[in-house]
Amino acid sequence: MLHDFSWPDQRFRTISLCSGCMIAYHAAMIVDCHVHVSADTPEHGFLSPRVRDSLLFRFMRWRLGLTWEDGAAAEGDVAAKLAATIAGTEQLDAAVILAFDAVYDSDGRFDRERTHFYVTNDYVAELAAKHPKMLFGASVNPYRQNSLAELDRCVSRGAVLLKWLPITQNFSPADQECLPLYEVLAHHNLPLLSHTGWEQMLPTLNKHVADPALLAPALERGVTVIAAHCGTRSKLGETDFVPQFMRMAQEHERFYGDTAALNLPTRSYAYESILKNEEVRRKLVHGSDWPVISLPPLSRLGLRASLRLLGEKNWIRRDVLAKRELGFDADYWNRAATLLRLPQSSSRSPDG
Ligand SMILES: [Zn+2]
Repeated sequence: MLHDFSWPDQRFRTISLCSGCMIAYHAAMIVDCHVHVSADTPEHGFLSPRVRDSLLFRFMRWRLGLTWEDGAAAEGDVAAKLAATIAGTEQLDAAVILAFDAVYDSDGRFDRERTHFYVTNDYVAELAAKHPKMLFGASVNPYRQNSLAELDRCVSRGAVLLKWLPITQNFSPADQECLPLYEVLAHHNLPLLSHTGWEQMLPTLNKHVADPALLAPALERGVTVIAAHCGTRSKLGETDFVPQFMRMAQEHERFYGDTAALNLPTRSYAYESILKNEEVRRKLVHGSDWPVISLPPLSRLGLRASLRLLGEKNWIRRDVLAKRELGFDADYWNRAATLLRLPQSSSRSPDG
C-alpha cells in the first residue's frame, strides 16, 4: 500500500553548526548508510576461501554479473558495479561504503586464519575520494594494537562513521578495549554503526555478542549508535533481538537502527513491530546492505507491487523504491545525514 509520502525536494542545504568546525548539518540529503565493497589485492584486503566458495556469495556474484576471476580483476569489477549502481540511484545523494577490519588475537595481532572478510580503510577512503556519491565508512577492531591511532587517521581522512560486526570480528562492544574508542567517537561526533542480531554471509566467530544491549557502554559515553539490522534474526531458530533493539531505541536518545537487509524474507518480520511503534519509527535510518539482495516484502506490499519492484535490476534503487512503498516518511530518508560526520567538503550544489 502506498502511504502518504512526500519525497524531499530541497537538498544540500548546509548549515554550519560552528565556524571552523568540520561538522555540518546537511538538511534533506538522502544517504544510504550501509553499503559493502569487497577487496582482493594485497594492499586492499581479501575474502577467505570459505566465503568466496559459499553458496550465498556465488549466487550474489552470478546475479550481479560479476567476473569469476580473482584478484585485481574481481576487485575492480566490484568497485565499478558499485559505482554504477549508486550512480543509477538518483533518489540517493550518497552512500556510505564500509571498510571491514580483520580479526585480532588478544595480543592485538592480525589473525589471518580467522579473518574471512577484510577491506582496508585506505581502500575505501580512496574510493570515496574518487567518487562524489561515496562516503568513507571506517572500520577499526578495538583489539588491534594501534586502534586509537587508526581511528584518528580515519577521522582525518574523512570517515563519516565507524563500522563493526562484532560476531564476525570477534569482540564484544562491552569489552574494556572499546572504551577508549568510545571517548574518541564521542569527541569527534562520529557515529558507530554496529551489527546487531545475526548474519549469514560471513561466519560467526562469537555467538555471545549479537545483543544490542552490549552497546550500552557506548551510549553512556555519549556516542551516537546505529544498530545495524535492528537486532533481526538472519534465519529461523535464532534469538530475536528486535525487542531489545526497540527497548533501547525508546530508552536512549542517541540509539538508532538501520534498515539494512530488512528486505530479506528472513528479516522483514521486523517491519511489523518497528513501523507500528511511533517512537521507534523515529529512530530508523536508511541502509540497504548492498550487495545483499533486496526482495520486496510480499506480505506487506502485495504481489503486484512486489513483482513490479523485482523488475528493477539495480538493487540499491530497488531497496529505496520498496521502502518508499512501505511508507517511510521524509524524516526517515533525511535521518542518516543528520547523524553522520559529514565534512563540509561533501556538500554539493542542488544541480551538482
Ligand atoms: Zn552489512
